[in-house]
Amino acid sequence: MTVIGILGSQLLTTQKDPFYWNQVVFTRKRLLDAIQILGHSALVLPVDAPEKAADLVSRVDKILLSGGNDLSPDTYFDLPHELLGITDPARDAFELAAIHAAIAQKKPLFGICRGMQMLNVSQGGTLFQDITLCHEISLEHWQKTDQETPSHTVTVKSDSLLSFLPELHAVNSFHHQAIHKLAPNLTAIATAPDGIIEAVENKDLRLLAVQWHPECTFSSQPLDLEIFRYFIEEL
Ligand code: MN
Repeated sequence: MTVIGILGSQLLTTQKDPFYWNQVVFTRKRLLDAIQILGHSALVLPVDAPEKAADLVSRVDKILLSGGNDLSPDTYFDLPHELLGITDPARDAFELAAIHAAIAQKKPLFGICRGMQMLNVSQGGTLFQDITLCHEISLEHWQKTDQETPSHTVTVKSDSLLSFLPELHAVNSFHHQAIHKLAPNLTAIATAPDGIIEAVENKDLRLLAVQWHPECTFSSQPLDLEIFRYFIEEL
């Protein structure tokens, strides 16, 4: 059994919120479902002090970075744009430390949505703080339909870690940010028809990431479960 360390999300509210005292740390059950269906297990690593990230990463086999809030533009040396959403600088700092620890410990990394954006930023890339700031976009990347239904295609490179996917793969889309400058050591291995980067890899770092949410579609699209199986059993 392989134990996946999922970097945890936080639901932080303001004092105006009646549930202010019920702030929670969580991960999506669908991520656990995908891992557990394949016979493996996960430990959630809640946001913690960056200095402790290396020790925590050493307790698990591989690291999964999940979706969530916007990255703070501080992480890629940009100023906040008015279209920037809610950020969580403590989570950003812990995740960056965990990524560098995983690379130092030669542990595989898999990023989903925000997780892909975080991996890009960790390697020196930047983001569009809102996808409308990329003038070439022509697709709706925050779909109105349910999370289980694909809404656009991606073109997948055949010589990539995702070579088990067909050249055209249908994906769901729930992101209002996107990769702007790709980190120099990452390769774009899937793109949407409008050019938005939808998957990246670095084979030497055992790093794979997708912009879509395969944890929502694997019941109807077995190839999306294969992405988890590949990460857990082969990456
Ligand atoms: Mn998309």
